[in-house]
Amino acid sequence: MNIILFGPPGAGKGTQASALCEAYSMPQVATGDIFRAHLKNNTELGQLARGYMNNGQLVPDEVVWKLVESRLSEPDCAGGVLLDGFPRTVNQAELMLGWFKSTGRELNRVLALIVPDEELVVRLAGRRTCLDCQATYHVQNNPPAVEGVCDRCGSTRVVQREDDSEETVRLRIATYHRETSPVLAFFKEQGLASEVEGLGEISDVAARLRQALQG
Ligand code: ADP
Ligand code: AMP
Repeated sequence: MNIILFGPPGAGKGTQASALCEAYSMPQVATGDIFRAHLKNNTELGQLARGYMNNGQLVPDEVVWKLVESRLSEPDCAGGVLLDGFPRTVNQAELMLGWFKSTGRELNRVLALIVPDEELVVRLAGRRTCLDCQATYHVQNNPPAVEGVCDRCGSTRVVQREDDSEETVRLRIATYHRETSPVLAFFKEQGLASEVEGLGEISDVAARLRQALQG
C-alpha cells in the first residue's frame, strides 16, 4: 500500500507516521528528515537545502524528486511506503504519479490532516526534535518522559529546530497555502484524498486516520 500523509507544517504528520508505519509494516519516507540528515552530515545537498529551509521556502522540485525517486527505488519500498512531507507541489505530485504508473505501482490514499493555522503556530513553537532519530515532542502537549531525553533513542540532543522559530514558521505556513494546498485539491479531484480532523488528542487523531484508511 502506498499512502501520503499530507498536511501543513505542524499538522502532526511525523507524530502519526510511526504508528501507521508499524501497523501496516511499511517504511516512512519523510523528505524533511532526509534533508536534515544531509544538513547534519554537511553534504552538498544539505548545503543547498539549508538556505531554502531556513527561509521557509521549498527546495526546488527537481532536487526533491531526484531524492525521492532514488529512495522509492530502494528494495524496502517495493511493497509500499508512507510519504510524509511529499509531495508539496502539484508538479511533485505529477512526477510521483507518473513514476508510480511507469513502475506498476498505485497510490492508494492521501490522508490529509486538517489543522487551523493558529494551532500550527502553537504546535511548532513548542516542538522539540531529537537531532539523532528525528522523533518529535511538544513542551506541553507531548513531552518526553524525562525532560531533554529522547524516549525513542535515549539521545540528550532534543532541541528546537532552527526553522521552528516563530518568524520562519509564519513563512512556512504561507508557503504551504501558496504552493502546497493546491496539491490537496489535485488529489481530491482524483477521489484519492480523505480529510481527517487533526485537532484533539494524538490517540484520537490516530484512530481517525486508521478509520479513514479502512473506509
Ligand atoms: P509535522 O510532521 O506535520 O510537521 P509534527 O508531527 O512534528 O508535525 O507535530 C508538530 C508538533 O505538534 C509536535 O510538537 C507534536 O508533538 C505536536 N502534536 C502532534 N499532534 C498533536 C495533537 N494531536 N495535539 C497537540 N499537539 C500535537
Ligand atoms: P518538514 O520537516 O516536512 O517540515 O520539512 C522541512 C523543510 O524541508 C521544508 O520547509 C522545506 O524547505 C524542505 N522540504 C521538505 N520536503 C519538501 C518537499 N517535498 N518539497 C520541497 N521542500 C521540502
